[in-house]
Amino acid sequence: MNSRIFTLVLIISTLVSCSNPSGIGEDTHQGKRSRRTYSLAIHGGAGTITKANMTPEKEAAYTAALDTALTIGENILKNGGTALDAVEQTIVYMENCPLFNAGRGAVFTHEGRNELDASIMDGSSLKAGAVGGVTTVKNPVRLARAVMEKSPHVMLTGRGAEQFAAENGLELVDPSWFYTKERWQSLQKALEAEKRESKTGDMTDPARRDHKFGTVGCVALDKDGHLAAGTSTGGMTNKRWNRLGDAPVIGAGTYASDDACAVSCTGHGEYFIRYSVAHDVWARATYLGETIEQATDFIVNKKLAENGGEGGLIAVDRYGNVAMPFNSEGMYRGYAIPGERKVMIYR
Ligand code: ASP
Repeated sequence: MNSRIFTLVLIISTLVSCSNPSGIGEDTHQGKRSRRTYSLAIHGGAGTITKANMTPEKEAAYTAALDTALTIGENILKNGGTALDAVEQTIVYMENCPLFNAGRGAVFTHEGRNELDASIMDGSSLKAGAVGGVTTVKNPVRLARAVMEKSPHVMLTGRGAEQFAAENGLELVDPSWFYTKERWQSLQKALEAEKRESKTGDMTDPARRDHKFGTVGCVALDKDGHLAAGTSTGGMTNKRWNRLGDAPVIGAGTYASDDACAVSCTGHGEYFIRYSVAHDVWARATYLGETIEQATDFIVNKKLAENGGEGGLIAVDRYGNVAMPFNSEGMYRGYAIPGERKVMIYR
C-alpha cells in the first residue's frame, strides 16, 4: 500500500515538474539564475540619436548626466535602500536635468505648454501610481508615488492631479520652469512642417514628428529581491487634445512584479499602449518562460519594429539580469550591477 502511494506521488511530481508552465526558476535558460545583490538600469529616451547629429560637447553632457543618474540610484541600492527609492530618486534627478524630455526640458504641446506624465510601480505589492497632463508639479514621479501611497487610486490626471499634489505638499512651480529653448524650437519646426503639409498634402515631412523621444525611466532590483520601475516624460512634441502616451499607463510604459521583472519603455507611445509592451515582457517571461533578453528582443525588434513602433525599453529580471533593446538609431541608457557599470548612447 505504502509503496503504491509512493509510486503515485513520484509519477505526479515528475509530471508536474515536466510541465512547469512558467519556466521561471528553471535552470534551462541563458542569463544569471542566482540573484545579484542589486541591479539598476536607466534610459533617457530613444530615437534618431546618431554620432553624426551629436556634438562632442552634447555627447559629454549626456554621458555625464546618465552617469550621475546611475550613481544616485546605485548608492541607494548599495546602502541597502529600496528599489522604489532608487527608481524615484534617479528619475527626480533626470526630471531636473534639462537634457531630458521629462520635468525641466520637457517637449511642448501644440499649444505651447508642457504637460507631464509619469508613473511608478512597486513589484513587491503590485501597487502603482500614475499622473497625466500635469503642468505645475516639479517632479511628476514624486506625485506618481504619492498617488500610489496616499490615494486609493492608480491614475490621476490634469487639474485633479494638481490639486492632489498641492494637498500632499508636493513642490509646485511656475510652468515656465519646464521651458528650454531647444524644445521650443522643436515645436516651431513641427508646426511649420504641419503648415507645409496642409498645403501640399504630403504627410511625410520628417520634421513633423520629433524623432528624439527623450523620456526617462529607471528599473531596479534591491537586496531584498524587490523590483520597481518608473517612467517620466513630457510626451511627444506637438501633441494635442490632452494626449496621454504610454509613460503613465501601467502595463504599457511601466510594469514591475517581483515574480519576474521590472520594465520601463520609451518611444512612440501609441504603439507601446496598443501592444501593452511593459506587461507583455512580464507575460512572455512568466507564461513562456523566456529570459528577459528573449522576451524584450522579440517585442522590440520583431513585434514593434515590424509594425512601425519606434523605441526601446529597459528591463531587469528578478535575478538582476539587465536587457536594454531598442529599434531606433540610439537610446540614452546605462546600467549598474555589483562590480560593473556602463553608459551608452548609440547602437
Ligand atoms: N513614450 C513617450 C510618449 O509617447 C515618448 C518618449 O518615450 O519619449 O509619450
